[in-house]
Amino acid sequence: MFKNGRWHQAGCRALVLFMTLIFVPIAHGDSRRIVVLDPGHGGVDTGVVGSYGTYEKDVSLALALEVRRQLGSSFDVRLTRESDRGLSVTRRTELANSFHGDLLISLHGGGGPSRDINRMTLFVQREKKRGVSREGDDWDGVHRAYIRESQVLASILKRSLSLLDGYDGVNDTAVPLRLAKGAAMPVVLIEVGNLTNPREEGRLEAPGHLERVASALVEGVEIFLSR
Ligand SMILES: [Zn+2]
Repeated sequence: MFKNGRWHQAGCRALVLFMTLIFVPIAHGDSRRIVVLDPGHGGVDTGVVGSYGTYEKDVSLALALEVRRQLGSSFDVRLTRESDRGLSVTRRTELANSFHGDLLISLHGGGGPSRDINRMTLFVQREKKRGVSREGDDWDGVHRAYIRESQVLASILKRSLSLLDGYDGVNDTAVPLRLAKGAAMPVVLIEVGNLTNPREEGRLEAPGHLERVASALVEGVEIFLSR
């Protein structure tokens, strides 16, 4: 015969087991990989405005929606925004973490200051040398474990994007990336073409082009997640 305390303890254990059996399958019932897409800019933050009046915020959202459509139901695809609304960089990272993403791709289309060059660029977080710890280092440290995987994701995406016609190459580079700060997943930010280049602005508006860019991104995501 158990004393009251023991009965209570046994009851608690049974309750925990019951809750685990009931809730764990619900919580983990969806085994699909989680792809988080972050359409750059939004709201009053238009991003770059092309010489024909195309907003970067609209291109990044259209591309994210197209990537989601092409990834289909085999993946659980989450967007940090699905409409024309502004979000801080920190909020974007927080959302990606709350979705428990397997990866985060931020989509941009601004490009550089040159109107003549039309190059894609992939950015990953630069590895910091471990030094004296300062306030905020713990938050920085969250992403440290994912930097290598971010580099792998960038190189896979670079390979598939390099097959697209009409670009002066695809660069990948490591920079201090605010979006990656605190992100518990691989993160790549992509400048897809240059709205500052009128020729590319025309292509981004042309039928089929965004779909082809999306298809290259989808191929890269599928290869990365199936390794
Ligand atoms: Zn941008």
